[in-house]
Amino acid sequence: CGIFAYLNYQVPRTRKEIFETLVKGLQRLEYRGYDSAGVAVDGPNKTSTDSNNNSIRLFKKKGKVKALDEELYKKNSLDLEAELYTHFGLAHTRWATHGEPSALNSHPQRSDKNNEFVVIHNGIITNYKELKEYLITKGYEFESETDTEVIPKLLKYLYDNREDDQVTFSTLVERVIQQLEGAFALVFKSQHYPGDAVATRRGSPLLIGVRSEHELQTEQIPVQYNCGHIKEGVQEKNSHNRSDSTINSVGDGRAVEYYFASDASAIIEHTNKVLYLEDDDIAVVTGGKLSIHRINRQAGEDPVRAIQTLQ
Ligand code: GLU
Repeated sequence: CGIFAYLNYQVPRTRKEIFETLVKGLQRLEYRGYDSAGVAVDGPNKTSTDSNNNSIRLFKKKGKVKALDEELYKKNSLDLEAELYTHFGLAHTRWATHGEPSALNSHPQRSDKNNEFVVIHNGIITNYKELKEYLITKGYEFESETDTEVIPKLLKYLYDNREDDQVTFSTLVERVIQQLEGAFALVFKSQHYPGDAVATRRGSPLLIGVRSEHELQTEQIPVQYNCGHIKEGVQEKNSHNRSDSTINSVGDGRAVEYYFASDASAIIEHTNKVLYLEDDDIAVVTGGKLSIHRINRQAGEDPVRAIQTLQ
């Protein structure tokens, strides 16, 4: 029922500070109601000196955010003082719609036991049964009773069967949401795309706060659509020229922090600069740069998302 995620890019934060930011974000969303809570962070060996380890660690707990908070500080092989220059952490409070309240059913939900792809979800996936049956026939094993679990599993299925080795995280997410029916706000993290974030929504709210010490660079870049793939500035043969479309981008690779949340009350203490996502927008942060584009766009729709200043 509540989403909060925090990305620090080239901004040193200790793991303890990251935990505190995530937990505080969830506490701001507690009023929405929930039955369990969870977070995803980078795994044990990820420090400023060892950036080759991309493992992801999940902490999930039935009950209060306070119980999750305590769990985070129990002896768990994570060095709380380790400084992480670039890190993306997810946090979620769940109000169960499919599957009882339990640690296993709480979010983040994952693609597999290695946590290759993890996701937090607000909303309901109405066609999850068909997707689940399909993925089971392909050999994917399910561990929860949630509707949400089809999402990271479908993502892994598409990743495992990718034809293009360079396939981007946002392209994979784009293909996943084209298969989903229902309502969702989603934020994704992956071992295969360390430090990157992808977020999207349809029917459930999601906004992104941006904080930076320097003036934010924002641009609108014309793009062409090529079979559903975004190609910046490249005119390709056979591409459907949609140069009327634009992709928004924020940031220039310098230090920046991003806050993803289902409502502004979790963001306002960090920054008053926010972007509200609209249905079928896909937001991606890679190399500290946020860009947003819209899929399934109708003619005449304005894809431009401006940064707003909260009062
Ligand atoms: N439908 C999902 C579940 O039951 C998400 C519920 C929510 O929005 O918290 O796990």
